[in-house]
Parts: sequence; structure tokens; C-alpha cells
Amino acid sequence: MPEGDTVWLAAQRLREALVGATLLESDLRVPSLATVDLAGREMLGVASRGKHLLMDLAGGLTLHSHFRMEGTWHLYRPGDRWHGGPRHTVRAILRTETRVAVGYRLGELDLWRTAEVGTRLGHLGPDVLGADWDLDEAVARITADPEAPVVNALRDQRNLAGLGNIYVCEALFLRGVQPFTPVGQVVDVSGLVETARDLIRRNAPRPSQATTGDERRPHFVHGRRHRPCYRCGTTIMATEAGPPGRRRWTYWCPMCQT
Ligand SMILES: [Zn+2]
Repeated sequence: MPEGDTVWLAAQRLREALVGATLLESDLRVPSLATVDLAGREMLGVASRGKHLLMDLAGGLTLHSHFRMEGTWHLYRPGDRWHGGPRHTVRAILRTETRVAVGYRLGELDLWRTAEVGTRLGHLGPDVLGADWDLDEAVARITADPEAPVVNALRDQRNLAGLGNIYVCEALFLRGVQPFTPVGQVVDVSGLVETARDLIRRNAPRPSQATTGDERRPHFVHGRRHRPCYRCGTTIMATEAGPPGRRRWTYWCPMCQT
């Protein structure tokens, strides 16, 4: 599952490669966009907003993509061998004179009027990697439902955007908070959010998502079911929950997180 920092990093790379260039060819492989031709349009900007990637094109259009579970954008030079996956997983191809951007397994691909973007994404909470990050607003949204398990509240993009499961599980571990604690019983929600944001910000410039600072054992609890906690040796617990298609594993140490 891509985290917000994966999308943020993809936006950085796509921005450097494409902004200022004119598209020579586009191929959008979703039924609703099959006849769309973006050739001749200049790429004006590339940005991430939570887990949404936005490409602004001349003429007031924005190509929106969402990575969902396995989406990604790759950049190639013309003539390079593509290695992002089988051909049938390609959802978008954008060619400029010097680069080819290929979107694989994108969960969503839409063409919006740039003027509509604010309304389309208006439900998102403050972006943990955004220039307009607002801690008080994020905390206010999270604490609005004191009964909600804190792990769910942190993953809800309407509360704060861009934080994914890895950083949520790891921040809860670092703050010693049991994931299913109701939000109203968490002593320092603000500190918890700051810890999670700090983790994602430190990792954003890098493709790895090591929260421990050690690439050889990158996570304290995430992905470590049945393994011993690095801190106390207790077996890490995990449970999977959520609606169909959006089920998430939650990992925690029952000794360190009470
Ligand atoms: Zn432990």
C-alpha cells in the first residue's frame, strides 16, 4: 500500500521530468478516457495531495490519479525497457520529447477541470506533507469522534491526508498507544499526530520507509506478526479489519502499547 510519502516522492520526480515540457502523445487506458488526447498540452505542474497525484496541464485540465493499493508512476527515456509490470497493468502513458511517464495499476484515473480540484478533494483533511499543514485542524477532526479506535481515526484521510498504515502503526508503537484505544482516551493526540508526521517527513525524500532508522530492520511492528518486539521481546500481535477491498492489518506490541 503506497503511503503519502510514496506519492509525494513520485510527484517530485514527475515534476522535475515533465514540468515545462509539452506532451507529444498520451494514452489513457481507462474506458472513460479512452478517446482523450492530451498531445500538444504543456505540463504546468505536478503535485501530491495526500495520496492523490495531480498533473496540471495547459488549457485548464488536471490529470488526477490515485495509487490505491499498488499504483505507481515510472519514468523512462525513449527507447528504455519498461519494467513496471505486465503491459495490461499500464493505465496511462505520457510522452514528451525526452521522457516517457507510465502509470501502472492506478486505482483511479480522471481528467478534471483544474478549477474543480479544490471541490473534488475538499473532503481531505490537512496534508501531512503539504505546505499548508494544520495540526490543530487535524486534531480537531480526529477528536470529533471520541469513540473511534485511534488507529482508524489516524488512517481516515478525512482527518489528515497522506498518512498510511505503516506510519500509523509505527507512530502508535513509538507513543505506546494500543491501536484500538478510543480516541477520547488517548492522552496526547496532538503528540501522536506529530510523531506520525515526523516519521513520514523524515522518510519522504527516500524510497524506503524505515521508521527505526535501520534499513536492515526497518519497522518496529509493521509487518512483524509473531516476531519478537525489538524493545521488549514480546510477540507482536496483528489483526486484519475493515470493509471488503480496504482491509488493513494492524500491528502492535501488547507490552509496549497499553
Ligand atoms: Zn514491546
